[in-house]
Amino acid sequence: MAATLESPKVTLTKNLINGEWCDADSGRTFEAFNPATGDVIAHVAEGEAGDIDRAVKSAREALENGPWSKFSARDRGRCLFKLADLVMQHADELAALEVLNNGKPIREVSFADVPLVAETFRYYGGWADKWTGDTIPVDRTLGNFFCYTKREPVGVCGQIIPWNFPMLMAAWKWGPALACGNTVVLKPAEQTPLTALKLAELATEAGFPPGVINVVNGFGELAGDALVKHPGVDKIGFTGEYKTAQIIMRNAADTLKRTSFELGGKSPAVVFADADLDEAVAGAMTGIFFNQGEVCCAGSRLFVEDSIHDEFLSRFKAAAESHKVGNPFDKSTQQGAQVSKEQYDKVLRYIDIGKNEDKATCVAGGAAHGDKGWFVKPTIFADVRNDMRIAQEEIFGPVASVLRFKDMNDVVKQANTTMYGLAAAVWTKDITKAFAIADGVRAGTVWVNCYNTFDPAAPFGGFKFSGSGRENGKDAMELYSEVKTVWVNLGER
Ligand code: ADP
Repeated sequence: MAATLESPKVTLTKNLINGEWCDADSGRTFEAFNPATGDVIAHVAEGEAGDIDRAVKSAREALENGPWSKFSARDRGRCLFKLADLVMQHADELAALEVLNNGKPIREVSFADVPLVAETFRYYGGWADKWTGDTIPVDRTLGNFFCYTKREPVGVCGQIIPWNFPMLMAAWKWGPALACGNTVVLKPAEQTPLTALKLAELATEAGFPPGVINVVNGFGELAGDALVKHPGVDKIGFTGEYKTAQIIMRNAADTLKRTSFELGGKSPAVVFADADLDEAVAGAMTGIFFNQGEVCCAGSRLFVEDSIHDEFLSRFKAAAESHKVGNPFDKSTQQGAQVSKEQYDKVLRYIDIGKNEDKATCVAGGAAHGDKGWFVKPTIFADVRNDMRIAQEEIFGPVASVLRFKDMNDVVKQANTTMYGLAAAVWTKDITKAFAIADGVRAGTVWVNCYNTFDPAAPFGGFKFSGSGRENGKDAMELYSEVKTVWVNLGER
């Protein structure tokens, strides 16, 4: 059957190790699904410890002896620029594959995911030959020394990513790692393996030599675990749940790997009475319903000032009820399907908790959408208290909790009463209030009169249980390089 936009052809289902597409050593495969229909769309090589071991060895060889080890920083930058161009040349195919395997709407993938992937590679291509060391003015009484620092790659990087932005998370990991001269073994999420494989194919075309980028698919407890424990891996970059990060941190300790974590959130979005309500409602919608709510920085706790609470809620409810849910390939669709049956069940379970255990008031949605695929209606709970489970636990779905607040002290305290600290937002026309929130809330990103704006140059990551280290920007270059200090004894003149 010819490939169409709605049924893109799935051609890549194997692992990429040392530049070769290979089946899993065990010969086993696992199923990949279309969340909009529940249909199986591919059988993907299921890597385990043996496959990971081969990939790590190939990454080590490429790092130390392969052509990559002779690439100048500018050569690495050129490959990243080429990869960015190839991503845009294959934009439609990449977008269709992402929609097929993840369930997110085509208009968001085409507008956000694909261009951001290309921009990320381009941005880090720019860094590659500008990542310099320093000359250090050391004490002359020590002797006549020339002291300088240089940046070296960390080495072989194991990168483990989630299913909510499969392509973009691969780009966030590869961009800085490759700019700094590392080699990588990527383990995509088992729910969404397909686009990382396509990106890896494009990377080969862009000129990255064999072994520099390896992709091994499989489950977290097997392939992911083997990557974390492998003594040949120098660093683990992880995005996912904090509970998985805790396991990874423990497992990485034996080999003292460097680790960086970008984890979950329960981000507060604060609406003051003086806010432009149309903008605040639009921002709240983007904050919680973008990407089906499967966003680590989703604005899932909306704090609304008492005096405008009812007005805000009625506008927010109307917007949620007219939000278009359905076929993610339809260009007018605003919300697609949850990624898996497991996620769909989890979101519906939390809706039950909100209604029954927490006894909050469900004012919009509150149920599955349609009878095929894994769709959930945009859901809003009102009368939520900050100590309720739906206000404290990460749901990772289209479920907003609306809470009230009295004044600045009250809202800063409530906003910070969470284990997480990934993001926060504020809507107000008063610059003093905006800065008070930006300063007072412990979160890695604060959005003022906006939400979910991203740029590869802007650091992103969390305080507290939301992670450690920052992705994007110059900060990610730090994560993927070691500083070497060199002392040269020039002798007395
Ligand atoms: P979710 O539950 O939302 O899928 P996870 O944190 O479990 O989030 O998954 C994020 C990534 O971590 C996935 O690629 C998954 O396979 C991987 N993973 C899960 N468990 C482990 C583990 N014990 N060790 C290493 N990687 C893991």
